Amino acid sequence: MEVKLSQRNEKKVEEIVKILKSKDTFLITSHINIDGDAIGSELALYICLKKLNKKVQIINNDKIPSIFKFLPFSQKIKTYFMTGKKVNFDAGIILDSGSLERVGNVKEIIKKIPFIINIDHHLTNSNFGNINWINPYFSSSGEMMYFLCDKLNKIDRNQAICLYTSILYDTCGFVHRVNKYTMEIAKRLIDKKINPEKIAQKIFYEKSIKSVNLFKLALNTLKFDRKRKICIMKIPLEFYKKTKTNEEHTEGFVDFLISIKGVEVGILFKEKKNGTKVSMRSKGKIDVESVARKFDGGGHREAAGCFLENKKIDEVESLIMEELKWTEY
Ligand code: 5GP
Ligand code: MN
Repeated sequence: MEVKLSQRNEKKVEEIVKILKSKDTFLITSHINIDGDAIGSELALYICLKKLNKKVQIINNDKIPSIFKFLPFSQKIKTYFMTGKKVNFDAGIILDSGSLERVGNVKEIIKKIPFIINIDHHLTNSNFGNINWINPYFSSSGEMMYFLCDKLNKIDRNQAICLYTSILYDTCGFVHRVNKYTMEIAKRLIDKKINPEKIAQKIFYEKSIKSVNLFKLALNTLKFDRKRKICIMKIPLEFYKKTKTNEEHTEGFVDFLISIKGVEVGILFKEKKNGTKVSMRSKGKIDVESVARKFDGGGHREAAGCFLENKKIDEVESLIMEELKWTEY
């Protein structure tokens, strides 16, 4: 099957390729609470630029979650605390991040970079780059990165592992935002002799006992609303303490909520020291991105989130539920 970018996208890719070839030192980064799509995209691009003999660093706000450590070159990923702001780059490439604020403390480095390339598939993107390639029709940033990497040099097996992980993760195992083009790209990546079963097991089947213990506590908070169309789960700070866990151990919890028959929206509230993080999932009838956007968050119709600073978990629950009252279904 032929997969061809539209003229507009093709032009953007060509523009980006030109810049990447003309400059020498690059920063690659992405959003806070780094996820599989962001990490896979970062690494695939890192490999591309290395093949072109460029100097590249991947620096993120957060440490890489353990489940993604199987990815090739993942040990190259640094955090801002490991590098500090005393690093200089010709260009910065920001992936999968709807705004400059979402890169967290890496913004301190970005401020000094003269040229920014912004590549993202979120509906809400503030076009903060010197070049912005934004397209919400792609399943994942990994899918966009496939086209860029393919233009830069021949995609190798390591890159295929990274890109397949991005797409698999961001579509929640080929559930959300998939179409025949996404599947065709996945096929092409599998053709690079990667093991799709192994990757899926690494991402979805490696829950730790600690995470299960946290889930057991969280299940006690499960609540339904609006004739069981909305399902809520809460994780107050004390749950992490009790189970010696952290936010990383909540991976997959919100996806469980939306897996329940009849539930249209699943919402996970996670308390933090300085506020409450909200993760929302929808089967598609309700646009959770528009709800998240009301609180300066963002995402997609089926998966969105926001962070309410200095607000307690119960207060945030009331605010979100109030906002959801206006949604119809
Ligand atoms: P999650 O609930 O897994 O953290 O995020 C779901 C989706 O919403 C992802 O695409 C993520 O990038 C986006 N998202 C989550 N939290 C925020 C936020 O605070 N701001 C914005 N702009 N997007 C968010
Ligand atoms: Mn993404």
